[in-house]
Amino acid sequence: MTSSLIRPGLTASQGTLERWLTGPRIGPLPSRSSREPPPLLSFEFFPPRSEALEGQLWACIRRLEPLAPRFVSVTYGAGGTTQERTHATVLRIVRETSLVPAAHLTCIGASRAEIIAIARQYWAAGVRHIVALRGDPPPGTRYVPHPEGCAYAADLVALLRGVADFEISVAAYPETHPEAPSPGADLDNLKRKLDAGASRAITQYFFDTAVYLRFLDRCLTAGITAPIVPGIMPVSNYAQAVRFSGLCGASVPAWLGELFEDTENDPETRRMVAAVVAAEQVRLLQANGVDEFHFYTLNRPDLTYAIAHILGVRPISKVG
Ligand code: FAD
Repeated sequence: MTSSLIRPGLTASQGTLERWLTGPRIGPLPSRSSREPPPLLSFEFFPPRSEALEGQLWACIRRLEPLAPRFVSVTYGAGGTTQERTHATVLRIVRETSLVPAAHLTCIGASRAEIIAIARQYWAAGVRHIVALRGDPPPGTRYVPHPEGCAYAADLVALLRGVADFEISVAAYPETHPEAPSPGADLDNLKRKLDAGASRAITQYFFDTAVYLRFLDRCLTAGITAPIVPGIMPVSNYAQAVRFSGLCGASVPAWLGELFEDTENDPETRRMVAAVVAAEQVRLLQANGVDEFHFYTLNRPDLTYAIAHILGVRPISKVG
């Protein structure tokens, strides 16, 4: 005798058409008109720690390059630990690709003179865009400003402005930076960074789109007009995303956990769930008028590529 797999607990009304006809109707998300230009994208990479990871990064860069992003950025490790690897990756992007690189630079562990020297090296190498951050101290330690350095990102922006005519992006936090005394103080800080000379903010990632949209409203009310580009993190590893989110103050809604439930040993399903979650998020943002997106690629191209495709971005060799 074969055992059958029957889901227990069906209610009496389940399985009747009536149930489907009584709820409110939800219309489709409006699609982007093919006459509108596709959105602007940027991609974030981290500098590789080993030769194998270097191969992974470069495969990722090569796969995403034809999407012609506005820029690609390279992070600077916590505690300023990857300065040389960040520098080497940014310079290789300049030398070997058609991409416009943006170097992340933090205040951590560097005097103002050292920061100026690094910025000058970047400028001399043709790098024109800096993502200016305070930075995070090594895990388990508290942030202490360098005695001769920049205490906050706003100070770094002002310093860089005096070095050369860099394009400068800064960080923004739709759910408020975890160390900020209040959401209002954090918004004042964002305004200071933009007033000091940054031209765009890129947000910490978020999963609840309504939180980001409310944050945009608060920015507008505070008189901020620079783009607040949403940072999109396709979730390739749910457990890791939960860990990261705990550290950086991004909340993980219960529905996300439910969607990834029981997928630990099922990478195929996990990837499909991840693609649907991110696609839904960017489509909802696009329907709300957002036309610039920053992707935290984690040096993995596939989800980012697929979501860019859904947003209407095509590889340049196929255009026309
Ligand atoms: P700031 O804008 O300086 O703010 C830090 C905190 O201090 C906030 O709570 C702010 O409200 C408060 N504050 C600011 N000014 C004052 C003041 N005058 N008095 C009192 N409080 C003040 N980290 C890395 O180490 N490397 C990276 O490459 C990196 N890339 C990132 C990219 C993006 C898009 C984002 C969103 C974050 C990134 N981070 C990176 C993380 C970032 O460094 C941390 O979130 C860090 O804790 C804060 O950086 P910030 O530039 O936002 O700091």
